[in-house]
Amino acid sequence: HRDLHLSIRRQRQMCIRDRLNVIIFGKPGSGKGTQAAMIKDKYGLIHVSTGDVFRKNTSEGTELGNIAKQYMSKGELVPDKITIAMLESEIKSFMPCNGFILDGFPRTILQAESLDKLLVNLNLKIDLVIALDVPNKNLINRLLERGKTSGRSDDQSKEKINKRLEEYDNKTKPLIIFYENQKKFYSIDGVGSLTDVNNRLVDVIDSKYND
Ligand code: ADP
Repeated sequence: HRDLHLSIRRQRQMCIRDRLNVIIFGKPGSGKGTQAAMIKDKYGLIHVSTGDVFRKNTSEGTELGNIAKQYMSKGELVPDKITIAMLESEIKSFMPCNGFILDGFPRTILQAESLDKLLVNLNLKIDLVIALDVPNKNLINRLLERGKTSGRSDDQSKEKINKRLEEYDNKTKPLIIFYENQKKFYSIDGVGSLTDVNNRLVDVIDSKYND
C-alpha cells in the first residue's frame, strides 16, 4: 500500500513538473535571459525571449523587425498589438511541450491578460512568476558593460537605458500586483554570482514542486 502511494505521488510530481510554465520577470539588465537559459537546460523547458525574437526579425529585415526596431532603438516598448500577436504565434509553434519559460513577456497588463486567455484556450496556465530584484545603479552599470560587447544600441546610451527603466516603472511594474493577486509571484535577490542567483531560482521552483 505504501509503495503504491509513493508511486502515485511520484507520478503526480512528474506530471506537474512536466507542465512547468514560468515567467522570469525583472527590469532591463536584471539577468532574465542568462538565468532563463540556465533554468531551461535544467528543467527541459522551451525558452522564449521576446527581445531575442524581435532582434532576430530586425536583423533579418522582416516587416515585424522593421516595425519593432523603431521602438526598440528608442528604448520604448513595442506596441502591445504587435507583441501579443508575435508571442501567440511563437507559443503555438512549439506546442505541445513539456513547459516553457517566458523571458521579457508579459511587460504590460494587457499582455498578461492576453497571455492568460491564450493559455486557457490551450488548457495551460502559468505556474510561477519569479522576479530578479536588482537595484537601478547596478542595472545601469551592467547594461553599459553589456553594450560594449553586445552590439545592442539600446545598451549603449544612458538615455535609452533610462527610458527603458521608465517604461518598466510605468507599464511593467503593475504586473507585480497582477501576479500577486494570482498568488504566483516570487521575488529573489538578483545580485551575486550567476550560480548564486541560479541557486535561489532553483530553490523557489523546487520548493513549489517538491512539497
Ligand atoms: P531588456 O530586458 O534588457 O530590456 P530585452 O531583450 O528583453 O532586453 O528587450 C529589448 C527591447 O525589446 C525592449 O526594450 C522592447 O523595446 C522590446 N521588447 C521586448 N519584449 C517586449 C514586450 N513584451 N513588449 C514590448 N516590447 C518588448
